[in-house]
Amino acid sequence: MKIDSSTVRALFVDSSLSVFFAETDLFYIDFQAKTARSCFTLRSLGYEDEDLLDIIHTFSVQETDKERADLLIHRFMANETDSAMDAFRLASKDGSSYHWIRFSTKVVSRDAEGQPQAIIGHVLDVDDLITSQEEIRSRLVEIDAMRELITAINKSLDFGETFSRIIEQLHRIIPFERASAQALENDRLAIVAGFGYMEGELDGFTFPAHGIDNPAVRALQEHKIIICNNVPEEFPGFIGASSDFVVLSWLGIPLIYEDKVIGLLALDNKERNAYNDQHVRIVSSLADYIAIALEHARKHQLVTYQAMTDKLTGLANRYGLETHGMEIFQRSIEQDQPIGVLMLDIDHFKQVNDAYGHAYGDLVLRSISQVIREQIRSRDYAIRYGGEEFVVLLPGLSAREALIVAERLRIKISQTVVEKERKLPTISIGIYAAVPGTLDILHEFIRRADLALYTAKEAGRNRSRVWSTSPEFYVNE
Ligand code: GH3
Ligand code: MG
Ligand code: MG
Repeated sequence: MKIDSSTVRALFVDSSLSVFFAETDLFYIDFQAKTARSCFTLRSLGYEDEDLLDIIHTFSVQETDKERADLLIHRFMANETDSAMDAFRLASKDGSSYHWIRFSTKVVSRDAEGQPQAIIGHVLDVDDLITSQEEIRSRLVEIDAMRELITAINKSLDFGETFSRIIEQLHRIIPFERASAQALENDRLAIVAGFGYMEGELDGFTFPAHGIDNPAVRALQEHKIIICNNVPEEFPGFIGASSDFVVLSWLGIPLIYEDKVIGLLALDNKERNAYNDQHVRIVSSLADYIAIALEHARKHQLVTYQAMTDKLTGLANRYGLETHGMEIFQRSIEQDQPIGVLMLDIDHFKQVNDAYGHAYGDLVLRSISQVIREQIRSRDYAIRYGGEEFVVLLPGLSAREALIVAERLRIKISQTVVEKERKLPTISIGIYAAVPGTLDILHEFIRRADLALYTAKEAGRNRSRVWSTSPEFYVNE
């Protein structure tokens, strides 16, 4: 329908009805006559009649809505359309707040160049509506994340995996750059899993769990979720795991299992005022689940560790070799790195038992294990392979390097004195090292180390031997 501009003008500006229209949410702008009528909603945001004449400059919308608003203006100016409807977050004239406003605008007349001369429009304050829509949307995300989180918790007993899943879901609903699960052990908090940290940054890192004024300590003592939105000011003594990450906001969730505090889940944020009551509410409803998941994973970890550990010596057992040992071997294949395998056997151990008794024999096994543990790197892996046989995996080492380790072990053991000034018995060591290919198996490496051990024994014991093709040749299997 073609609108007669003079009629519109008469309604808004000239006639006695203009008073009535001023109370509605209809506005009118006549660029040619330089008259305008603001309306109820726009006026309540501070925009008077004259402000509308320079609408492009006086109206300011929120950054994220700018592109849409500019497009709308462009379409009017380029004469692409005469009417349009869209909603924007319009700033109040003093710039103090934004309101979602829906504009329905129509060009009433254009000049000879096609530029709008007069427009009428209707505005609707849809702030409450859109805000509540957004609220509903974020609640749905929250519910979904919680559901996912609870499902995730029950999916795996692996500690690291459970923690990653919890963090992944939590990240959807709570802002943080770093997160850590901290276990309470001997009155200190040890970080057992982290998110957002650099590799190796957390190794062996612990925090005091009492005696200092720190939000973590407070969370543990008061059994309460603690939010801290200005860490440097509220807790100048806050201890961070690294100096290049300054924690400005912090959220700590005490993990309580069967009325006992077992640890803490801590979220770090680089911004001030990152956390609010809504975050506390979300986290409160999840804290119990997180505590249960982490406690179950921790117990599982302990049981797995026990299953992989030899009781007498504390070294790994065959099961450890089959699991963790295989992983180490697999990593060497993937990284195309050599791996050294040592096979150790105590010389004439039967005689030791016979002469001094089985209990003393056990002490010898424990002492030798202790020397092995002390002499190898943390990435190496020592296994009690049989009664008095040990296997040591040395990832990254060539045969020459493995031989150096073997000799060091052998000499150290032979020099160690235990009960009643008795020296430990000597040992013989077989060595095999190579860069494993995808078709290689760890047991073949161990078999070759064992063949080399056999030659060490044959040659008179108390020595190390590296595998070479010759033993295969004359050992009749
Ligand atoms: P060799 O130098 O040829 O290796 O001689 P050896 O006596 O060490 O060899 P052999 O395999 O004949 O004997 C191993 C002995 O280790 C027999 C066994 O009683 C003892 N043994 C195995 N496991 C244990 C254990 O857990 N505790 C004790 N005390 N002795 C053990
Ligand atoms: Mg033996
Ligand atoms: Mg032996």
